[in-house]
Amino acid sequence: MKIVLATSNKDKVKEIKEYLKEYEIFALSEILEPFEIVENGSSFKQNALIKAKAVYEKLKQMKLENEFIVLSDDSGISVDVLGGRPGIFSARFSGENATDKTNRAKLKDELNALKAKNSKAHYTACIAIVSKFGDFSTHGFMHGVAIDEERGNNGFGYDFMFIPNGFNKTIGELDESIKLEISHRSRGLELSKHILKMLKRKFDI
Ligand code: IMP
Repeated sequence: MKIVLATSNKDKVKEIKEYLKEYEIFALSEILEPFEIVENGSSFKQNALIKAKAVYEKLKQMKLENEFIVLSDDSGISVDVLGGRPGIFSARFSGENATDKTNRAKLKDELNALKAKNSKAHYTACIAIVSKFGDFSTHGFMHGVAIDEERGNNGFGYDFMFIPNGFNKTIGELDESIKLEISHRSRGLELSKHILKMLKRKFDI
């Protein structure tokens, strides 16, 4: 059983490969030509399943479903003073051509507009798995505080502006091994390991 990731986000690919070291994992670009997936769901779970199912359909067309399963991650940050925004719109927070940098600037602007130096916030990750033996999903969360400035260089996205509970540094300042231990993605993947183990047994029969 091999796993293809339904994401071209290299930071996510790195973290997922690191967490699921015992599995043979391929980035989407290693298996398929790029194609557009419209993420029009209204929850992390819907979007994670949309991505994984779209890639699974392509694999099936290539008759690869006896070899591969698909794993996707849909994730984002929810900031309490912003009423939970950007949430599922985290990647597109600052508009159509958003980058991690413009998204962080937008978060800073919105906090400043509310005269908030910081706010409670949490990350969510939904991990979806689509295979010939069925579809599955798990969730993971990381709670903490979003701040109105950037600190550190580790991680990606909003990590330089997020201090996880129990720490006084941003994810950007903390060692990468700590994020791997406590992140929303890792927590979701930890639960997914049970599903992967079960699927591997079924593939091996
Ligand atoms: P997706 O690729 O549609 O799931 O969008 C995920 C977006 O949420 C990313 O572009 C980041 O802005 C944000 N995000 C998700 N996970 C993380 C993380 O672990 N660190 C920082 N930002 C994250």
